[in-house]
Amino acid sequence: MRHKLIAGNWKLNKTVPESLELARKIAQSVTDISAREILICPPFTSLTAVADIIRNTKVKLGGQDIFWEQSGAFTGEVSGPMLRSAGCEYVIIGHSERRQYFHETDETVNKRVKAALANQLKPIICVGETLQEREKGITEKVVETQVRGAFTDIPEPDCGKIVIAYEPVWAIGTGKNATPDDANKVHRFIRGLMSGLYNDPISGKMLILYGGSMKPENAEDLLKQEHIDGGLIGGASIVADSFIRIIKAGL
Ligand code: PEP
Repeated sequence: MRHKLIAGNWKLNKTVPESLELARKIAQSVTDISAREILICPPFTSLTAVADIIRNTKVKLGGQDIFWEQSGAFTGEVSGPMLRSAGCEYVIIGHSERRQYFHETDETVNKRVKAALANQLKPIICVGETLQEREKGITEKVVETQVRGAFTDIPEPDCGKIVIAYEPVWAIGTGKNATPDDANKVHRFIRGLMSGLYNDPISGKMLILYGGSMKPENAEDLLKQEHIDGGLIGGASIVADSFIRIIKAGL
């Protein structure tokens, strides 16, 4: 039986004081939630301060990216040991904004996944098609290439630590979400793919999140789909009230 993970991707938002205020509000509002795993991914600059605020609460911490080297002359990058020491348990990898604006490829996604696992961080691997790809009818092909690329040379025992986020690019930050049924179909396809790459029991246990304009109004319908195991939420995760309503949707 899979549980639901509700993850907030704060992107390039929130100064340190703003992060503390938001994290505090979220942590205080979820003290009675045990049915859902809750994660927030603030910008790097806020990680250690937020880690202090959410210590001993139901809220977990994640980074928004990771570089594959541990240390060295790589100006501007952040490594696995740095994220671990800042209190992170998870890290988002291969978000479509990183693929689009920072030239992330399936190969570099794979290197980051390996770096995360080597540093006891749980990767949240983002995959998803553009509008053009959806209109061409190649959603499954695109997603399959991204998943195969991300999982290259990842051994089966590590799969239990990995989360996949299906995020159709045309739905991110646009207010348009995939219908619950459409999203569920792609999630089922991804689970089938994982079962081909590894085996049925492991693919049955893997969490596959939906991301793309998830909000309080559509969260319950999305979260009740058989293969949707939670959400990766951008815009609605930086407003305490809407993120809390998504966390509680359908409970
Ligand atoms: C995201 O950034 O992963 C995302 C899904 O954004 P939004 O919820 O704003 O569409």
